[in-house]
Amino acid sequence: MNDLLNSLGVTTSGATPARSPIDGAEIGRVAYDDAGSVETKIAASVVAFKAWRDVPAPRRGELVRLFGEELRANKDALGRLVTLEAGKILQEGLGEVQEMIDICDFAVGLSRQLYGLTIASERPGHRMMETWHPAGPVAVISAFNFPVAVWAWNACLALVCGDSVIWKPSEKTPLTALATQALFERAVAKFGAAPKNLSQVVLGLRDVGEMLAKDARLPVVSATGSTRMGRELGPVVAARFGKSILELGGNNAMIVTPSAKLDLATRAILFAAVGTAGQRCTTLRRLFVHESIYDKLVPALKKVYAGLPIGSPLEKGTLVGPLIDKASFEGMQRALSNAKDEGGSITGGARALEDKFPDGFYVHPAIVEMPDQTKTVCHETFAPILYVMKYTDFDAVMARHNDVPQGLSSCIFTTNMQEAERFIAASGSDCGIANVNIGPSGAEIGGAFGGEKETGGGRESGSDSWKAYMRRQTATVNYSDALPLAQGIEFAV
Ligand code: NAD
Repeated sequence: MNDLLNSLGVTTSGATPARSPIDGAEIGRVAYDDAGSVETKIAASVVAFKAWRDVPAPRRGELVRLFGEELRANKDALGRLVTLEAGKILQEGLGEVQEMIDICDFAVGLSRQLYGLTIASERPGHRMMETWHPAGPVAVISAFNFPVAVWAWNACLALVCGDSVIWKPSEKTPLTALATQALFERAVAKFGAAPKNLSQVVLGLRDVGEMLAKDARLPVVSATGSTRMGRELGPVVAARFGKSILELGGNNAMIVTPSAKLDLATRAILFAAVGTAGQRCTTLRRLFVHESIYDKLVPALKKVYAGLPIGSPLEKGTLVGPLIDKASFEGMQRALSNAKDEGGSITGGARALEDKFPDGFYVHPAIVEMPDQTKTVCHETFAPILYVMKYTDFDAVMARHNDVPQGLSSCIFTTNMQEAERFIAASGSDCGIANVNIGPSGAEIGGAFGGEKETGGGRESGSDSWKAYMRRQTATVNYSDALPLAQGIEFAV
């Protein structure tokens, strides 16, 4: 472990242990920030911002390019640390680092494309334009399940936009944050001319996140986590007129229609429902199956579920690793018990490998056949529970699909063009992500990522998400000798 951390430039010391969900073992120690050190870091972030905003954007892109090179060189090590600290299988740990590399590439291109509009002025001899300026120091608060990629989505864009960054990672994944920061510092050293403290990490529990949320020197707070967290943080940022980018819980669904290619649908269900042990914000949680294919698809699914390789995420062949901790296991058991009380029929869901890993929380992913979309189904339980429901009528299933508080990701499996188009039409899925013949998870970085309703409304990563990290200015220049007023107003003295 120490060799791995050393290779990534992390020295671990401090009072707080960092543990692996694989077996509950201590894998390092970290020092939490206190109010004093958070204050010092925010002040330093402001100083760094004032220098960085004047560096031309393509030069800023060069720093992000160098960071991408560090990630490429250390992909295996960082991917492994993600697996050790977050418990996702190695392939997914590596995939997470690849996502960081991809967003670096995206951001480098973006650094030459921070375009504004030129707008026709109604006044003669005037030119009106829209300019995008750096916003200021950006706070990033992240969740345990994508311990490094979510930061990269935010930070790489913020950095090319001319902002400094201050990152509060999940208290469950501090080591991956320190490793990412150390790799970033290597890129800074190669770049040679970046201000000090351009990117910083603050460690601690939610109180540290609250300090960032309250601080008016941080005009943008990007926060990823539970809806509970967003409900607390959103009003705090809004009260000081800051902008928040909220990426909160999902309750993602798939509709499998009579014309669907069932082999494709089955594979998509498996990856989306049990991948990352059901701990993705885009995990498939609700499955609507047309009554005509229900007795074919659901028994086939149960059969595959029964043979899923559950085990250490470091071992080749494992598809289902551990839950993040005991509280998560207990939450899953509570949800299953509630679903049963509401008429659900449960397959799977019990604890696995308890003898081998008494302090690791492995589970058999659960399929729960529900008579209806009950209260428990409407709640996001961050564990591998797939609620399965039968449907008859397309309009009725669309209504049920949208009848949950969350609005992150969604998909339909169909070869019927009308159904496909209706799913992505204005009256179709109300989610931020709507897919046809693709599962709800595993989004590409090129699109804007995020969702509606209790998912928070934020958009990150691709498309024009960069605008959230900049401030928009409308500038008008009068190059005439007259002073005409807008709206034709006469105001002669
Ligand atoms: P969490 O809400 O417990 O914690 C997330 C982060 O917020 C942590 O860093 C935590 O310390 C901090 N925090 C908690 N309360 C806070 C407060 N009041 N003020 C400021 N900071 C606070 O979430 P988690 O258990 O780490 O992650 C799982 C959740 O994250 C799930 O609900 C999942 O759907 C969601 N998630 C969403 C996305 C997305 O893009 N929509 C991505 C990943 C995870």
